[in-house]
Amino acid sequence: IKELNKHFSISKNWFKKKGYVYALNGINLSVYEGETLGVVGESGCGKSTLGRCIIRLLKPSNGEIYFQGKDINKYNKQEMKKVRKEMQMVFQNPYDTLNPKLTIRMILSEPLIAHSISKEKRTKLIEDTIEIVGLKKEHLDRHPHEFSGGQRQRIGIARALMLRPKLIVADEAVSALDVSIQAQILNLFKDLQEQFELTYIFISHDLSVVEHISDRVVVMYLGEIVELAKKELLYERPLHPYSQSLLSAIPNPDPTENRERIKLTGDLPSPSNPPKGCKFHPRCHARMEICEKVQPELKELDGRLVACHLYQ
Ligand code: SF4
Ligand code: MG
Repeated sequence: IKELNKHFSISKNWFKKKGYVYALNGINLSVYEGETLGVVGESGCGKSTLGRCIIRLLKPSNGEIYFQGKDINKYNKQEMKKVRKEMQMVFQNPYDTLNPKLTIRMILSEPLIAHSISKEKRTKLIEDTIEIVGLKKEHLDRHPHEFSGGQRQRIGIARALMLRPKLIVADEAVSALDVSIQAQILNLFKDLQEQFELTYIFISHDLSVVEHISDRVVVMYLGEIVELAKKELLYERPLHPYSQSLLSAIPNPDPTENRERIKLTGDLPSPSNPPKGCKFHPRCHARMEICEKVQPELKELDGRLVACHLYQ
């Protein structure tokens, strides 16, 4: 992903002066085959927009998105339909996206029909996939309302798997579930990754969930990447003050470890009118004079990327 931007135009006030929401600003990022890249940040920081732009559910304003060597941001509808097979999305609340009038069999058929897959192949794929996600063939003739939250998410995952994609973007995929069910679904994600050699972009505001599943983690703030590191590095020693605040808010299971709590003060500023300089400066516990004026660049430091004047 190179210099990816997504700006939404909005009517700013009653006399309809146009403004923009700067949802993504100059994102540069690589996602490696077979890895799970976690994406964290508060709601409104651009995580979902990033996920949706990557699989082109949203059209980016500009920038390049290379998938298997080709810039898919240049693709037209027809070309996009072909690669769409390879990239799928799993949403937070599958119930909202599962048509209540259809049986599970019909729901799982839809992506196959859209890609002209023969009836025989469809039946086999559907029956195989429902078992792969831990449900039974008998479930296929039921309707979404007959299932629990966890089972519905299994159906949502089955639907994403129908075309045997390479990349899955999971947007808050376990956030609506009870903690015990979350663990089961996360384990299912892990098993499927191994079985189908999947690559995941795993978006969540929940840092414990992201720690459980990710290889590398991106921290986003107001449409920008502020830190990107291997999971172990980031969780052991976050460098960016925003990452530090997010991580120090995770409940610590070890009471003997005296971890300093860095409180995140203030609200996320409006992405239509972001602060000058470092966008995090109004909330930063380490801010310096330069921070209000000059935006720090994302730079490499000790095997990770961080955008903060403290390290430059
Ligand atoms: Fe804080 Fe300055 Fe670093 Fe921004 S650049 S995170 S304000 S220390
Ligand atoms: Mg979101």
